[in-house]
Amino acid sequence: MRTAYESTYAETISSFPAVLGREQPSPIIRDGKTISPMDYSRYVRRFSSSLECGNPYCKDLNYREHFHCLDCNSRVFVKKEEMIRHFKWHKKRDESLQHGFMRYSPSDDCSDRYPNCGHNRKQTHYHCIQGTCDKVYISTSDVQMHANYHRKDSAIIQEGFQRLRATEECRTPYCAFYGQRTTHFHCRRDQCQYTFKNKADMEKHKTYHIKDEQLARDGFKKFLKPDPCGFANCRFSLVCNHIHCVRDGCSYVLHSSGQLLSHKRKHERKDSEIAYRKFKLAQQAVVNIGNNPDQQSHPDLSAAGTSMLLPTSSLVALNALSENLHGSSAPLPGSDRSSPKSASTQSRLPFMTGK
Ligand SMILES: [Zn+2]
Ligand SMILES: [Zn+2]
Ligand SMILES: [Zn+2]
Ligand SMILES: [Zn+2]
Ligand SMILES: [Zn+2]
Ligand SMILES: [Zn+2]
Ligand SMILES: [Zn+2]
Ligand SMILES: [Zn+2]
Repeated sequence: MRTAYESTYAETISSFPAVLGREQPSPIIRDGKTISPMDYSRYVRRFSSSLECGNPYCKDLNYREHFHCLDCNSRVFVKKEEMIRHFKWHKKRDESLQHGFMRYSPSDDCSDRYPNCGHNRKQTHYHCIQGTCDKVYISTSDVQMHANYHRKDSAIIQEGFQRLRATEECRTPYCAFYGQRTTHFHCRRDQCQYTFKNKADMEKHKTYHIKDEQLARDGFKKFLKPDPCGFANCRFSLVCNHIHCVRDGCSYVLHSSGQLLSHKRKHERKDSEIAYRKFKLAQQAVVNIGNNPDQQSHPDLSAAGTSMLLPTSSLVALNALSENLHGSSAPLPGSDRSSPKSASTQSRLPFMTGK
């Protein structure tokens, strides 16, 4: 299958030899615009005299027309050919960087970073700078092939996976292919330990995560038969595929996605009903305060004052109301009241626990 990524890559690769190879024919076409080959301003600035640049070094030497490199702090060129050579050196280095390589010409020293490099100061060569990769090439076609290798890997990473080649150690004890020295894939999403051998499974697994995220947004979590759901006393864990409602205080279990919408709606109705009743009670409390002139003139209407005013019966009524809303619903199937969340829920939302 030809992915969108691969077609993009085909376009990139076709322009690559021109970029890394011989001199480009002029004029240069960039972004559809024709740029004069004499435009060196990207890396070099021209000064007509040492007065114009103001640099003491240039003044001492009484330079007329000369050039400063904008990238290399102290590089000054008087001869235009030298400036052009230096400009091209920057340009080629930048272009190789865009493909993930650091270019070293015979005049560059790579020994700082690559102490054992056999190409140093002998020929133009390219060091791969991706991660811990230590590949070095002298042929631009090898560079292209290797850039392709990394580009495919990063496309896979963007999809949320990692490819491990037979030559790489997977260092992941839970992986089914651990120590087998075979090409395989890992899902990189948090808490997902899915590993697979067949690249075609990537799309399927991606779809699984998309659905999972959709379910999570709606307050559900689906568990497949082979995976323990982790809910205490759930009699469906490791027995069959099932879906838990993960809203605070609810332990509803669904067995088909057809029930999702109606259960979600049930919560939405309850939530808006509770919110409305709370609003009405709060409104009532404000009216009560307004009707009490003594309290109105009180300088510090503390929380204690408020609860004296707002009859405890109102709070009791609110709690009773909430319990009522829960109690009025039909008994929930698979209703183990001890989901992992409910302990903390009970202390926070007493009225949500139900009876
Ligand atoms: Zn100068
Ligand atoms: Zn420079
Ligand atoms: Zn080197
Ligand atoms: Zn590499
Ligand atoms: Zn693995
Ligand atoms: Zn996954
Ligand atoms: Zn379960
Ligand atoms: Zn629920």
